[in-house]
Amino acid sequence: MPTNIEWTDLTDNIIRAKVGGWWCQKISEGCKNCYSERLNQNSFFGGNKQPYSGQPPELVLDTEAIRKWGFQRKPKKHFVSSMTDVFGEWVPRFWQHEMLDGMFAAPLQTFQILTKRPEIMFSSVAEWLDSQELDKLPSNIWVGTSIENSRTLEERSQFLAQIPVDIRFWSVEPLLEDLGDVSPYLNQVQWLICGGESGPNSRPCHIEWLESIVQQCHVAKTPVFVKQLGANAIFDQQRFKTRDKKGGGIEEFPQHLQVREFPFSVRE
Ligand code: SF4
Repeated sequence: MPTNIEWTDLTDNIIRAKVGGWWCQKISEGCKNCYSERLNQNSFFGGNKQPYSGQPPELVLDTEAIRKWGFQRKPKKHFVSSMTDVFGEWVPRFWQHEMLDGMFAAPLQTFQILTKRPEIMFSSVAEWLDSQELDKLPSNIWVGTSIENSRTLEERSQFLAQIPVDIRFWSVEPLLEDLGDVSPYLNQVQWLICGGESGPNSRPCHIEWLESIVQQCHVAKTPVFVKQLGANAIFDQQRFKTRDKKGGGIEEFPQHLQVREFPFSVRE
């Protein structure tokens, strides 16, 4: 499905609730204002109104959507799945493996998988690689983890770093605090996305925090993609107002943050 997420072409939500809508389990500070849960609360958008906590509703895997990947000829970047975490504890292992099978069978397409549970991604991918007698993931599969603060940087990066793959990435969004010196970690990733929080009750993101990350990426020669300043951007202790309500208009960024790079091997 077409999307306005700037770093991808399509979102493919292959796991949905059987009654309609989606489900996920909140896990950390970055989930507090979850966009997917907000949409799921609204039946107008097809949501089922179940909160993202407690027990999951009955879920379904869209095997037909997975099968179709292999027939798509025009190369696109697919963000799979934007509305949940495909490596959630509640997702059956064989669903994760069916997804990887479908990606393997679609080498013309690029798949971007993002998780807040890289320890599960690591073990599930290892099982799948074993079953395929492969040493590393096919190069059309990129794996990433979300990082919102120093704690999640410390915890999640170590698991992501162990996954054998050409392109590992971090989505540092919503950035909730200054990450300080990230340079010791930057050789673990081939791409970094960063941005402030958008939507109602957005928490502040200081432009100086983003500048620090971008500067360190330039030094490390890690491609960096500044997605948005967020709806509550702060610069020099004052609100930095933007016309775009999520602070996503690149022309409104301070000039040195107008950076939207992709990993070097990307197929446009
Ligand atoms: S992991 Fe993502 S989709 Fe799931 S609750 Fe957290 S922010 Fe929402």
